[in-house]
Amino acid sequence: MKIDFICPHCNGYLNVKESLILTAVNKHNSAGLVFIDVRLGVYKAQMHPTLQFSDGEHVDFRCPVCAHSLGVPKFDKRLCALYMRDDNDWQSTIVFSSIYGEKCTYKITEKTVEAFGDDNYGKLDFTSISEYMF
Ligand SMILES: [Zn+2]
Repeated sequence: MKIDFICPHCNGYLNVKESLILTAVNKHNSAGLVFIDVRLGVYKAQMHPTLQFSDGEHVDFRCPVCAHSLGVPKFDKRLCALYMRDDNDWQSTIVFSSIYGEKCTYKITEKTVEAFGDDNYGKLDFTSISEYMF
């Protein structure tokens, strides 16, 4: 199945082959590209060795196309959000933790919320998440 990840701010495509590619900025304001496995619930990421994070550190994930932050601090400062579109053209919102080392992802459609990862934050109310993404 072909899946695309899309920036909510510029509609840029953020995936190449099996990776979601984001800009990640650490607390020292060092930035670099991160390649994240596109499979939801698979927490494998690659980045340049000079870009370092410590466990529990907040990562500022940004769109590598328009540089807009993907964080949704007014909803929950631990989370960021983008769109996913499958080959049936179904669009969902993917919300995931920006805390380094945490495994927490949600796939939100009009009717369902699916949680992935060992650190999920329980039942959050995502009904108005789209209002917090811009
Ligand atoms: Zn963008």
